[in-house]
Amino acid sequence: MIFNINKIAIAGVIFTAATLLSCQENKFGEVDLTLPDNTGKWEDVTAKYTYNHPCAMYNDDDFARVRNMLADGTAPQVVKTAFEALKASKYGVIDYTPNPVRLMKRGTSADVNDDADEDAAAAYQTAMLWKLTGDTRYADASVRILNAWADECEGFDPNGNANQMLTAGIQGYTFANAAEIMQTYTGWGESDKQAFKNWIVKNFAEKNRQFMDLHWSRQYMMCEDHYWSNWDLVNMCSYLSIGILTENDEMVNYVVNYFYDGGGNGCIKKLARGNHADPLGSGETLFQNQESGRDQGHSMMSTMVTANLCQIAYTLYKGNKSVPELDFFAAHDNAVLKMAEYVALCNLRSGDDDKNKAGSWLVNAGDMPFEEYKYCINCSCPDKSHGVVQSVVNLSEEVKNGRGEIRPGWEILYMHYAKEKGQGSGYKYCKMFADKLRPECGPDGTRYTSRGGTFDQLAWGTLMLYRE
Ligand SMILES: [Zn+2]
Ligand SMILES: [Zn+2]
Repeated sequence: MIFNINKIAIAGVIFTAATLLSCQENKFGEVDLTLPDNTGKWEDVTAKYTYNHPCAMYNDDDFARVRNMLADGTAPQVVKTAFEALKASKYGVIDYTPNPVRLMKRGTSADVNDDADEDAAAAYQTAMLWKLTGDTRYADASVRILNAWADECEGFDPNGNANQMLTAGIQGYTFANAAEIMQTYTGWGESDKQAFKNWIVKNFAEKNRQFMDLHWSRQYMMCEDHYWSNWDLVNMCSYLSIGILTENDEMVNYVVNYFYDGGGNGCIKKLARGNHADPLGSGETLFQNQESGRDQGHSMMSTMVTANLCQIAYTLYKGNKSVPELDFFAAHDNAVLKMAEYVALCNLRSGDDDKNKAGSWLVNAGDMPFEEYKYCINCSCPDKSHGVVQSVVNLSEEVKNGRGEIRPGWEILYMHYAKEKGQGSGYKYCKMFADKLRPECGPDGTRYTSRGGTFDQLAWGTLMLYRE
């Protein structure tokens, strides 16, 4: 394997205590997790990729594994249950009627944020059902939704504010992952398929890139720390997924380089910070999330979207083992896992209900370590008066803090580190969350509390990833 130590990320001072060497063998070969010292410069990845579609969130092997064990009855019961939930979802129906709009209005005074969320979820869920059942009626439903949007929608209302960038990211990666599955379907006509790709590049990918380059526009350029990590992360998910969909190496490389060395808060150096010992004495190292001092609802979103981003990059890595940088899960000695452990510990209750409503908090607010975080203090934002210094993790009991609210994504993290990588430890709290929520399903469930929260992740991790 070609491996250039200078190309593997340069950690900031927050990673100085990280273990410097780890190599792991798994069924995809040797994953080189070697970390450098902190003195080098990031050298941009300029790789060329092989695209064995689908190769974004999941690949054909993943779908075949699940399809076969469902077909022959050997699937674990939780996988069967999740599959039944997907079939029963109102976004997984053959006669789903899409409602495309001419202009998506998120960020206008009306601030409609659900123009595309249900239809994108339906395109994705029907695409999954096609792969898992072979029933082409699901395929036709997904294609019908994708075509309807490409035909009807001309992009975002030009009066929209920065909030439109969240839709560009969230619905961008949901639509892109649906189309990535569907592009292998012979029933999707070539001209329609190409029209969809043109549409998603023009209306989503260009916004994603604009956001990452300019935070958020040339007219309203903020400092690169102004937008919280989740804004970057959804746009990274979208830009990466559309890059895979359209086989655009430059787009994929852009996200890889941004993840390790980008300016915004989706960069791993800013996303996972602090270097703490678990106050409950597990021996684990914990990294706070960039949004941990803000509110738990957003730190949860940031972590769950990160799980989706890592999964997309890792699936592409399976077909491109010469580019170890695609293993975002492993970056900086598993920084994503350490961050997820911190967020899980902050939000877990002791009960064994599947909504995380019962029992007491695992950790007392006062016991949780936190590294001071300065948000937009003396920065280049046009309005310098909005900065704040955060000195403690926000574990307040206010409803708006969202402590303990659940989102899907824990199964991705736990299954990756424990089963895919075969690590023996380091995921104590991810495991607790995954065990509690299993089967982790998707939108249309009753467990996920806020509407937006259900659509921010692709979900269905138990169905696609669970291994006993
Ligand atoms: Zn600012
Ligand atoms: Zn700023």
